[in-house]
Amino acid sequence: MLKLREKVVLITGAGSGLGEATAIQVAREGAKLSLVDVNGESLEKVKKRVQEVAETEILLITADVSDEEAVKNYVHKTKEHFGRIDGFFNNAGIEGKQNLTEDYGSDEFHKVVGINLNGVFYGMKYVLEVMKEQGSGSIVNTASVGGIRGVGNQSGYAASKHGVVGLTRNSGVEYGQYGVSIKAIAPGAIMTPMVEGSLKQLGGDQWEEAGEEFVKSNPMKRFGKPEEVGNLVSFLLSDEAQFINAAVIPIDGGQSYQY
Ligand code: NAD
Repeated sequence: MLKLREKVVLITGAGSGLGEATAIQVAREGAKLSLVDVNGESLEKVKKRVQEVAETEILLITADVSDEEAVKNYVHKTKEHFGRIDGFFNNAGIEGKQNLTEDYGSDEFHKVVGINLNGVFYGMKYVLEVMKEQGSGSIVNTASVGGIRGVGNQSGYAASKHGVVGLTRNSGVEYGQYGVSIKAIAPGAIMTPMVEGSLKQLGGDQWEEAGEEFVKSNPMKRFGKPEEVGNLVSFLLSDEAQFINAAVIPIDGGQSYQY
């Protein structure tokens, strides 16, 4: 039995990493896809990869999630094309520069918050309108362990991801009565281009060694795989996970529970 048979799933940040892995997994589970990213070329590549594993309808939309009009437009286009939106992986995000708070820079702070928090808020605002009218739907927002713990050197990222957790809890409480469930995932370090970039900020040319050092403190002694997040999100978007609402689910090998 396919978990997402005939469901329409909208994914932001679908051109890479966790968004790409989730697109592949939800397509395997029978979903039709609306894929959004600021990078149109990467969307074309992901479309081909999805088509290698599943035969499904795929709509591509190039949009910047920090631009409210662009968000309104990608939601409108998806609804217009498919007639409904059953699942929404509200996932696009950036890490930003790593720096002490006093050196972080206000422009960088606004940029990171603009994409990671405003972008998630805009997405919820317009998708919830559609789901409330339908009387059904599931949203998964991408937070981070940086949204439930202090990591350091990430003022903008921490503020934005804690904000995503707050939005998830608040709106989950509001929309349960309309048949809509809203959850957040809090991934630890999952090996995607974003984490590669983060390790390069830490270790420069020696980034792979920096990575080996980094995972030593993880209870499972490894990075997570994008497919593991794709599997989790696919389940969370399915009807089987409908009663999980306003919850934040870590996927980090247990690292955030470690003292
Ligand atoms: P990634 O860099 O591999 O992919 C992010 C995608 O988002 C890219 O395709 C990029 O083009 C797109 N994007 C960036 N800014 C955008 C914008 N303004 N509008 C639309 N699309 C935009 O990164 P990833 O690791 O897959 O990260 C995805 C999400 O997961 C992010 O929100 C990130 O903060 C979060 N996250 C990742 C990890 C990890 O370890 N990889 C851990 C915790 C949280």
